[in-house]
Amino acid sequence: SFHKSKGQHILKNPLLVDSIVQKAGIKSTDVILEIGPGTGNLTKKLLEAGKEVIAVELDSRMVLELQRRFQGTPYSNRLKVIQGDVLKTELPRFDICVANIPYQISSPLTFKLLFHPTSFRCAVIMYQREFAMRLVAQPGDNLYCRLSVNTQLYARVSHLLKVGKNNFRPPPKVDSSVVRIEPRRPGPQVNKKEWDGFLRVCFIRKNKTLGSIFKQKSVLSMLEKNYKTLQAVLASLQNNGDAALNTSMDLGDQSMGMEDDDNEMDDDDMEMDEGDGETSEFKEKVMTVLKEGGFEEKRSSKLSQQEFLYLLSLFNKSGIHFT
Ligand code: SAM
Repeated sequence: SFHKSKGQHILKNPLLVDSIVQKAGIKSTDVILEIGPGTGNLTKKLLEAGKEVIAVELDSRMVLELQRRFQGTPYSNRLKVIQGDVLKTELPRFDICVANIPYQISSPLTFKLLFHPTSFRCAVIMYQREFAMRLVAQPGDNLYCRLSVNTQLYARVSHLLKVGKNNFRPPPKVDSSVVRIEPRRPGPQVNKKEWDGFLRVCFIRKNKTLGSIFKQKSVLSMLEKNYKTLQAVLASLQNNGDAALNTSMDLGDQSMGMEDDDNEMDDDDMEMDEGDGETSEFKEKVMTVLKEGGFEEKRSSKLSQQEFLYLLSLFNKSGIHFT
């Protein structure tokens, strides 16, 4: 019997498994990372194609079944099974990741892979269709969102294959898609947390103008707090020289929290605080940056990654930071 809570939907169509393996472009020298091997239908083909498979599986019953399946075959010494939650497991070095994952870990797993310390060629992953379409969405597309911009900063992403729900047993409620994720090398020259904080603000409402988003009191007060903290640190650096280098900027422990931002899909259901009409000096500073770059009337739903990077650099140049 299968565990719904563990997202256990086994691939039962061998032609589809072949097609995934073939599209992944595995070399005979590859160390392959598989996540959630289940009963091993994909694992077997991966062992045929590559040099070694390292499979991370949460369910101990599946681990046993997998070991039993390959015991006494020529594959057994090329398969390493790690039992555990992939999100809590330190991943080994690998060349390529191929996986039919439980959909509930889509977002954290994707970012775990993107921030993996050693480089790998690509990841070929089965996702729920809508999540996949968000990953690959371009500016102006309906599903373009924070997840799209964020992922595409770190990787080239392409849609490989549509997969209907009847290819699985038991069939999931939704259709799926296989996506190819190829990390950019070298990686982008941005501060991860700064970029994440910035996108969170820009995508508070993706169809509102940036002008109206950055006029919100909550946004301005957060930015002003960061600004003052930074100014204070800079001032003490100037006054105290090296002693101040040890000043730790405790800017809060913001999680990267790459959860799906579903709440931004219906855009007009929330009143925004437009400020109380006072034009504080800081608000002017922020608006000047937006106007200078021509961003005041723009909306995140239509901005490219380059435009986001440019706007962030303008803010940073003015001493405005998002962490
Ligand atoms: N790869 C198999 C196939 O295609 O037939 C099974 C895929 S099934 C969608 C997902 C698998 O991931 C299940 O075997 C489940 O036990 C396992 N799993 C669920 N959560 C996990 C986690 N956090 N870490 C590792 N494996 C997990």
